[in-house]
Amino acid sequence: MTHVSNGGGAPEGIEPVLREVVSALPSYVAGRRASTALAAALASNESHEAPLPSVLRVVREASDRINRYPDMAAAELREHIAAFLHVLPDEVVIGPGSVGVLQQLLAATCGPDDEVVFAWRSFEAYPILVSLSGATPVPVPLGADEGHDLDAMLSGITDRTKAVIVCTPNNPTGVAIDHNTLERFIAAVPPHVLVIVDEAYVEYVDAADSADTTRFFRAHANVCVLRTFSKAYGLAGLRVGFAIAHSSLAEGLRRVALPFGVSALAQQAAAASLDAATEIQQRVDAVTAERRRVLQILRESGWETPDSEANFIWLRTDERLRLNLLEAFDRADVLVRSYADDGVRITLADTATNDRVLAVLGSKDTFAQRSSSIVHEMDPAK
Ligand SMILES: *Cc1c(COP(=O)(O)O)cnc(C)c1O
Repeated sequence: MTHVSNGGGAPEGIEPVLREVVSALPSYVAGRRASTALAAALASNESHEAPLPSVLRVVREASDRINRYPDMAAAELREHIAAFLHVLPDEVVIGPGSVGVLQQLLAATCGPDDEVVFAWRSFEAYPILVSLSGATPVPVPLGADEGHDLDAMLSGITDRTKAVIVCTPNNPTGVAIDHNTLERFIAAVPPHVLVIVDEAYVEYVDAADSADTTRFFRAHANVCVLRTFSKAYGLAGLRVGFAIAHSSLAEGLRRVALPFGVSALAQQAAAASLDAATEIQQRVDAVTAERRRVLQILRESGWETPDSEANFIWLRTDERLRLNLLEAFDRADVLVRSYADDGVRITLADTATNDRVLAVLGSKDTFAQRSSSIVHEMDPAK
């Protein structure tokens, strides 16, 4: 390596120019990371539980072989998932997180002159990845119930629409779409428009009328489903997710994939997590029980919050309340995710941590009174 004596920086001369679409991209705002052991990390919807011992054992054993490339086809994991969801291994595409798979999906299907419809506010990766593909994002405002306004999304479909992304339960509001409603929507989307159903939080849905997307997948050639091991399965740090896609689309996704994008550690941990279904379900049940408890207390305390079917809750706020909430959570060393002009999302964790959240919020009236005198010095983008 050559020694740089000028302290770094580009030498004089012409620098590479970014594509215009890249210069214009909004940055992905990651949830802040906990910097102390006492801080509660409730900003990224991760599982708060430590990795399962059975999964850790597999990862430790696999780490003996990190001098080798992983199986690019992820054959074993695909077979595991196929058996789990009753699809064919060829219909499963593994990627570096379901965000990675979504990028492959858009790269394989969309380009300039195309449009992609999605709800807004929803997952912030959507406008970034759609723009990067060259297509035009078409965000459609959420309904008053904080869920997708599916009629408006249908109206947003034009001759140029290539894909529609449906996020259920929706990040960051937690609202899920029930089976019949989603079925009607999919039936109304023109068959040449790809319907991408992002189910990052599907494991947490316990509504009786929850959507069975594998049925939609079987019935419609234009449906594809995204799932992840980052949330309920607790593997956010290993980066692995997948799509269920019909075979010609699946083949396209494999072609645009970054070679060896999913490590052997991630592949084997994901397979081991599917084998630990009972323990994962117990962890999910604990979160959904906490969700019921927290939602009830919040509502009794005067806070309005939609029926979350995910591992987080949503508080819509005006800017003043949002900044006051951020400041109060900051003081309590609780990291939450806030969205300018929209609200605050708080990941659910164990009972003690959720109680810290409830203690910060208290009753809505008291909170509003207490904070009415606070002067704001916080970065509003935070
Ligand atoms: C977290 C999340 C994902 C998945 O993230 P990966 O870690 O890339 O698998 C996908 N969609 C939504 C809506 C999410 O919240």
